[in-house]
Amino acid sequence: MTTFSDLKLGPKVLRAIEETGYETPTPIQAQAIPAALEGRDILGIAQTGTGKTASFTLPMISLLARGRAKARMPRSLVLAPTRELAAQVAANFDTYAKHVKLTKALLIGGVSFKEQDQLIDKGVDVLIATPGRLLDHFERGKLLLTDVKIMVVDEADRMLDMGFIPDIERIFSLVPFTRQTLFFSATMAAEIERITNTFLSNPHRVEVARQATASESIDQFVVPFEPSRRDRAASEKRAALRAVLDGEGDKLTNGIIFCNRKIDVDAVSKSLKKHGYDAAPIHGDLDQSQRTATLDQFRAGDLKILVASDVAARGLDVPSVSHVFNFDVPSHAEDYVHRIGRTGRAGRDGKAITICSTADERNLEDVEALLEKTIPRMALPGKTPVPSADTAPAADAPEADAEAPKPRARRTRSRAKPATDEAAPATTAETAPSEAPAPQAAPEVEAVDADHDTPRVETTEREPRSRGRGGRSSRKPAEDSQATAPVRDDTRRDDTRRDDRGRGKPVVGMGDHMPTFIEKSFEERMTG
Ligand code: AMP
Repeated sequence: MTTFSDLKLGPKVLRAIEETGYETPTPIQAQAIPAALEGRDILGIAQTGTGKTASFTLPMISLLARGRAKARMPRSLVLAPTRELAAQVAANFDTYAKHVKLTKALLIGGVSFKEQDQLIDKGVDVLIATPGRLLDHFERGKLLLTDVKIMVVDEADRMLDMGFIPDIERIFSLVPFTRQTLFFSATMAAEIERITNTFLSNPHRVEVARQATASESIDQFVVPFEPSRRDRAASEKRAALRAVLDGEGDKLTNGIIFCNRKIDVDAVSKSLKKHGYDAAPIHGDLDQSQRTATLDQFRAGDLKILVASDVAARGLDVPSVSHVFNFDVPSHAEDYVHRIGRTGRAGRDGKAITICSTADERNLEDVEALLEKTIPRMALPGKTPVPSADTAPAADAPEADAEAPKPRARRTRSRAKPATDEAAPATTAETAPSEAPAPQAAPEVEAVDADHDTPRVETTEREPRSRGRGGRSSRKPAEDSQATAPVRDDTRRDDTRRDDRGRGKPVVGMGDHMPTFIEKSFEERMTG
């Protein structure tokens, strides 16, 4: 078996790895690190959770150990699609480079330009950035990319989803032709293939297969949900969510609730708080300090429930999350796997409960087709929402009966494999699993968020990316009072994606390694 010392990493890096507690390299590390150390381009097809971050940070630290950065000219560049992922990469550098003198800067939206400029002015070895913020700095003349020797593109498929590919292409055109490129993507969509063919030179290709077994430590359930009336659907769904949370009783030590839309992240979080739950939202429209504070609280165990959008929570490595709840079934099946992978980490048990309304059934079929299994159904714990006087259904409205939703004919889709496990057929609502506590008091229908109960225009979590060069029509107000140039925000959409993108074979990985440093909160930005 390959050990870290077989990988030709420098002794100081090896010491840091040992102190982190890693025993053996993960497959992507074993394959990518030696080739990266030889100066080869890497094309890594791997999901978060496979150890891919260390597979590029470790060789970079060894390669950059010699040499010094010049003012405004970083020697390496790591591009990540979201602020949180960029911060996570920066935390990885902190851990692995602690015995090496390397300076670094984190360029992400929501952080003052002035402070970031000061770091860059001094000269940094490693610049970790979201694409938008990097280009903003470049356009303000504060940054030169002509000394970049190593460039990393992390989570390229997510960059594609978020419309960052033109920015990535532009950044490629600004760094030297002779640079080394380390490129990572979970899937190889046609557009990603094109980029790699254009910008990578004879890359060493490393592909890490999906880790199907990780999900075995996660108990998964679907709670079918049908509102009594369409105009009450949203508030009844929130009541159903509370019933699900209550149903978990003390087993729920902390959890993440995923919503497909930002507007629901806010509505659900607000509603839970109103009902006395310890919950806070995280999505791309919140300012960075708020997002960081909320995540730190959650990591530290000071916040029980995080209500999140896919993008804001993607790739986040928070240990010991007891539960994941899906307020909606995600519209992209792979996101289901990412979401539930937030629980059951590092060999711990986890539970994932998905509320599935009639409108979500098609998405659920996609999820089950991807998983190649039927997820067991469980009934909504407790009684159905008791309508209060002001929200009572009209006389002709059907009775709410969320405990026993009507069986619905399930569309058979060609790619859905026949169920092979012992789970109940999808058309029935089973009784709750045996460990579910006794029914709780009937959750009340709330009227407070009535404005969300009507169909609404979906908001997206990403602003239009075109700007400056071609004229930017709409952008969010600058988050940074010191900004002198138009500010590109790296907020992003959650669930609206390009329909035309090629869909590569999903490579699904859910991390089950959990080093100690992850238990500490990450720093927002750092110097060496
Ligand atoms: P990543 O895929 O980079 O998001 O990493 C997923 C998790 O695996 C992180 O918590 C890493 O710290 C951890 N990890 C990375 N490499 C190793 C390793 N060789 N052994 C154990 N855990 C690791």
